Formats: sequence, C-alpha cells, structure tokens
Amino acid sequence: MNNYRSGFVTLLGRPNVGKSTLINKLVGEKITITSPIAQTTRNKLKGILTTKIGQIIFVDTPGVHKPHHRLGEILVKNAKAAINGVDIVIFVLDSNEKPGRGDEYIKNFLVANQTEFIVVLNKWDLVSKEFQNLRLEQYRRFFGTNENIQIVSASEGEGCSELIERVFNFLPKGPKLFEEDLISDQPLNNLLADLVREQVLNNTREEIPHSVAVKIEKIKEMNKKNGKNFTAILATIIVERTSQKGILIGKKGFYVKNYWSVSKK
Ligand code: GDP
Ligand code: MG
Repeated sequence: MNNYRSGFVTLLGRPNVGKSTLINKLVGEKITITSPIAQTTRNKLKGILTTKIGQIIFVDTPGVHKPHHRLGEILVKNAKAAINGVDIVIFVLDSNEKPGRGDEYIKNFLVANQTEFIVVLNKWDLVSKEFQNLRLEQYRRFFGTNENIQIVSASEGEGCSELIERVFNFLPKGPKLFEEDLISDQPLNNLLADLVREQVLNNTREEIPHSVAVKIEKIKEMNKKNGKNFTAILATIIVERTSQKGILIGKKGFYVKNYWSVSKK
C-alpha cells in the first residue's frame, strides 16, 4: 500500500451553501446535521471516507446566523480556526446565486493566507440550462481561474466522484488514520442525538429554542419477518420550559406520532 494517501479536508463557505449536505453525500452516510435553518451544526463533526486508494477525513465548520452585521468577521474567524492542520480546503459556493459578499471575504482570506483550495459550485441542479455558461463564467472571473472549479450537486450526487478524485490529488502519501468501518469520530449516541435534534428544529418554529437537548436511551436492532430490518431508537427530548413540552407532544400526541417517531425506509 505504498501509494496510499490520507489527510484532512475542511469545507468552508457561507451558511446554507450545502456544506453539511455535501459531506453526507461524499461520505455516504447521514452523519452531520443538514437543515434549512442555518446554525445547527454545533460541533466540528468529521466524516471519514475510506477507499482503496486513500482516506479522507472531512471536517465541517460551525454555522453562522444569517443576517449578521459581522458576518464577514465571523466567517473569517471560523475559517482561521478551520484551516488549521488541514491538507486542502473545499470552498463551497451556491451556484444558484452569483458570488456574494460572504464569498468574497472567504476568498480573500484564503488567498491572503496562501491556503490551497478547490472551488465547489454546489446546487448546480438549480441553475437553469440557459444560464449555466454565464454562471460558470461569473465564478471563473471571481476566482481568476479555470482550474480547480468543480461543479457539484450535493443533493443529487452529481460531480461528487470527480470531487473525491481531485481531493485525493492534493493529499500526501500516508497510512489509514482511522479504522475502516468508522464513519465519524463522534460517539454513535451523539450522532443519533443530532439526528433527532435536527428533526425537532426542522419541524418546530422559534418557540423551541436551539438549546433543546436530546438524550439517547436505547438502541435496538429490530428484525422484521418480511426482512425489512431497522434500528429502533428511544430518545428523550429535553426542553427548557414546561410549556414547550406541549408543543413537542402536540394535540393527542400528533407530533409524537407524526414527527418524533420517524421510521425511515
Ligand atoms: P450548510 O449550512 O452549508 O451546511 O448547508 P446545508 O448542507 O445545511 O444545506 C442548506 C440547504 O441547501 C438545505 O436545505 C439543503 O437541502 C440544500 N442543498 C444543499 N445542497 C444542495 C444541492 O446540491 N441542490 C439543492 N437543490 N439543494 C441543496
Ligand atoms: Mg452545516
């Protein structure tokens, strides 16, 4: 395994450009929080992709509240912390929009810092056919390059294998840093708790604050006769005030039945 490569990769980009969705797609498992609400990624979660030719360890960056008068400052502060010790940065942008102020802050920071990065134009599925050439041209001009721009649709999976190939080209030769079957360095319970928490935040409004906590009580493999096995998870959702309990339970347990007891496939 002399040519094996391994290294750390971080994804930078404005809130909501699809960083978490992209990590999930690249790693092939749902491990970080994706949400239409920005600011749900609290930790630097890592996704690990192990293949025959190498291992990529992905580091997610924390979200930023969207309209924020100090957005640029915060993006740069996060970027500074995030690029520490990584081999290559994936700079994710929303190609459904033209380059914006937040993108500019990050670009300037990376250039000033002489950090190597791959540009990912995500959400390409949202760019209408007749507009694609113009959009690509706008981003080429913005970055002053034709190279290292990868068009991707994180939700559809388009461009993901090409992106992985590009990342490997930047990684140094090195051994596997994590066990094969590990997809994240977070304990399983944390990952599951984050998934439940994501459901709560996605399905409630401001009355349930981000401080809601989830405790995983029990994990059980269920074997159904029809061969459709699934994993049952019993979790406790902890809220700050008694009044919030009612919201989460719903009328006649509506929310419990329809949302909090999700069984996927
Ligand atoms: P983050 O804040 O950068 O981590 O962004 P998320 O991964 O949470 O994604 C923000 C929103 O964009 C979510 O609603 C995603 O479903 C959506 N999204 C992400 N990637 C794509 C994509 O390639 N195409 C489309 N149409 N939507 C996407
Ligand atoms: Mg995120």
